[in-house]
Amino acid sequence: MTTRLPLPPSLYADTAVAPVATPPLDVDKNVSVAIVGGGYTGLSTALHLAEQGVEALVLEAQEPGWGASGNNGGHTNPGLKHDPDQIEADFGPELGRRMIEFAYGTTNFTHDLIRRYQIPCEARQNGTLRAAYHEASTAAIEKTAQQCIRRGMPVKYLNRAQLREMTGTDRYVGAMLDTRGGDLHPLSYARGLARAAISAGAKVHGETPALSLRREGSRWRIETPRAVVHADKVLLATNGFTDDLWPALRRTIVPVFSSIAATAPLSDAVARSIMPTRPVLYESGHITVYYRIDQQNRLLMGGRGPMRWIKSPYDVAYLMRYAERLWPQLKGVAWTHGWNSRLAITADHYPHVHEPAESVLISLGCNGRGVALATAMGAQLARRLIGGATVEIDMPITGIKPIPLHAFWPVGVTTAVIAGRVRDRLGI
Ligand SMILES: Cc1cc2nc3c(=O)[nH]c(=O)nc-3n(C[C@H](O)[C@H](O)[C@H](O)COP(=O)(O)OP(=O)(O)OC[C@H]3O[C@@H](n4cnc5c(N)ncnc54)[C@H](O)[C@@H]3O)c2cc1C
Repeated sequence: MTTRLPLPPSLYADTAVAPVATPPLDVDKNVSVAIVGGGYTGLSTALHLAEQGVEALVLEAQEPGWGASGNNGGHTNPGLKHDPDQIEADFGPELGRRMIEFAYGTTNFTHDLIRRYQIPCEARQNGTLRAAYHEASTAAIEKTAQQCIRRGMPVKYLNRAQLREMTGTDRYVGAMLDTRGGDLHPLSYARGLARAAISAGAKVHGETPALSLRREGSRWRIETPRAVVHADKVLLATNGFTDDLWPALRRTIVPVFSSIAATAPLSDAVARSIMPTRPVLYESGHITVYYRIDQQNRLLMGGRGPMRWIKSPYDVAYLMRYAERLWPQLKGVAWTHGWNSRLAITADHYPHVHEPAESVLISLGCNGRGVALATAMGAQLARRLIGGATVEIDMPITGIKPIPLHAFWPVGVTTAVIAGRVRDRLGI
């Protein structure tokens, strides 16, 4: 018997809509598609399969949204980590163009889906700011903005004075505003996706870890603690919690923690003095800080934290100190929650889709921007699962390549964080 791990002690766990029932699987099943992982990737794929009448069954070790999906910053950010020109250089004009169109369309896709299923998750589309606090990084942001504008995207470059108005601080020298970005309540959204998938006909089982996966004749056999699933096709969507279900997959990602600290609701005046129009913002330094003000006027500050589970905002006191440095009016405000979860970073910073055997698809590595991306990937993955290898999707399907010296990643991350802090301070 397994026992479910509790949700991290987040603001979201205390304020989300109630979960839909997802009982553990206790009878053997025969299905068309089995999906391992009940985050946005797995749930969105299940929903898009079910919409097309394909029987999908999700196996989630804990509960839907328990992983990064129920604990993230809640920013819906368009695009990939890399600039559009870089994407075309890396993947050629045809696939590159499709990837750009897809990745920059993910936020509209997600907000449309939320409207279509009327998912109550406090979704808004007030824009994403990617902001620089050093002259050195403004050039890079300006370049990204120009590449987006050249492609007809709703993007603007903002200067220091405009940013002071939008963020209530002098910290930022330049930023790109993409009006397609926005925010939502991550756990309510994950639960809403699970509800939508189930209402469309998918089956979702919590407290049901997939323990092993192997071929049996022309099908796949997945063992779980109480029952066995036989499936024609399988999707692995385990992201930063990837285990040894598929050989070497764990070594293709670095599962880093990201942390968030949240204040109690701020007065209207203070909230307005910070972000009057409520976009979301992420900094373009080597150590990214991201923040937003939610619909109850709480400030949610996110960034790198300890590489272990945390329980309180005092575990990430630097985020509170940084917020007070940006907005001295916050001094004395109560910080009520601090939590974290694990996301998957890939070596090339692109999301990875693999098809390591016939009828097995793997999707992971949204590199910290999976809210909209993983949702939209779900529709692409469903297309490929239904249509098979002849159906092209708007992301490359690549081989599984373990990261060299993967065992040393904790040391590598620590070194990168220290180096990043120094480079951020020096503006290089
Ligand atoms: C603190 C934090 C802040 C972030 N902020 C943002 C943001 O603001 N904007 C943004 O776009 N992205 C953000 N991200 C990234 C985003 O949350 C992820 O990219 C996205 O949620 C990934 O979804 P997923 O479904 O692929 O993975 P997850 O949501 O992590 O789901 C994987 C699931 O697989 C399950 N699982 C693992 N192994 C098994 C098994 N063997 N059997 C059954 N189940 C299994 C796990 O229990 C887990 O629930 C953030 C991430 C973190 C951690």
